[in-house]
Amino acid sequence: ATKNGGRNGFSYFTAAMQEVAKIRMRLTNDLHNALAGKQFEVYYQPIVELATGKIAKAEALIRWNHPVAGLISPANFIPIAEETGLICGIGDWVFQNVVQQLAAWRDDGKSEVQISINKSPIQFQNGTKDHSDWHAQLSALGLPGESVVIEITESVLLENSEKVRSQLSKLYLGGMRISLDDFGTGYSSLAYLQKFDIDFLKIDQSFVSNLTHTSNNLALCEAIIVLAHRLGIKVIAEGVETEEQHVLLKQAGCDYGQGYLFSKPLPAVEFGRLLHATS
Ligand code: C2E
Ligand code: MG
Ligand code: MG
Ligand code: MG
Repeated sequence: ATKNGGRNGFSYFTAAMQEVAKIRMRLTNDLHNALAGKQFEVYYQPIVELATGKIAKAEALIRWNHPVAGLISPANFIPIAEETGLICGIGDWVFQNVVQQLAAWRDDGKSEVQISINKSPIQFQNGTKDHSDWHAQLSALGLPGESVVIEITESVLLENSEKVRSQLSKLYLGGMRISLDDFGTGYSSLAYLQKFDIDFLKIDQSFVSNLTHTSNNLALCEAIIVLAHRLGIKVIAEGVETEEQHVLLKQAGCDYGQGYLFSKPLPAVEFGRLLHATS
């Protein structure tokens, strides 16, 4: 295919690219109907306290059960949801779903668990529901703010806008906790670690994979942990897959681990079975 080949411009694309564009367009269309079609499901991935081995928390991760294509990974549809603005409705749905699930586990006498929910930068800009709606949803079910941790990425903080700052501080004042996701992959400006009310920092899995006694990644992880602790921030390592990574992180003083070594993300019923009954 050549750039000047076709009058309509489409010959610029190779057949493969056309196919990708077609799939993307179909996904975009289908995504509009996914919420109403009840095609989403929230999975829960345990977050383990390394000192005790206890499941202290979990991350809520959305799954799309597409009627024809089957299970579609969020990596493939979250970007489309963000471009189309659908992420705001989807994000509100995830929040409500998690909060109801938390209340159900409490009513079943399960031990308390803190759930992390990912919040896209687009939700900060264009979301229709804000911190006060979310607090209201929690308190309507008698749940404390601390039951939810909001995971944001560095790009949210980089914007440094007054709107983001005030939304974050109101979330925080209402008891919800803030976690900085994928740490180390963005600009990693260290200044915002003390400027915002951040409770948890998640070391990106790219640093955790290839973690060995001799690797530079170990030096990086150790430095991040020391820095975070000095600022009163707890550290969660993402993507822990091997016992060696587990041991090295524990020795380095990392507070929590999340990854396939402990568990894959699980449907709510299965995760609920891991939570002990308290009475
Ligand atoms: P994330 O927030 O960084 O979530 C961690 C991802 O790492 C998850 O992928 C999880 O399944 C995967 N993971 C966990 N342990 C391991 C491991 O040991 N090895 C490897 N290779 N991967 C591991 P997932 O569920 O496919 O989600 C991908 C991304 O999609 C998330 O990255 C997050 O950015 C986004 N996402 C998922 N659910 C939501 C949501 O409800 N709202 C928003 N806005 N974004 C979401
Ligand atoms: Mg996350
Ligand atoms: Mg992450
Ligand atoms: Mg990620």
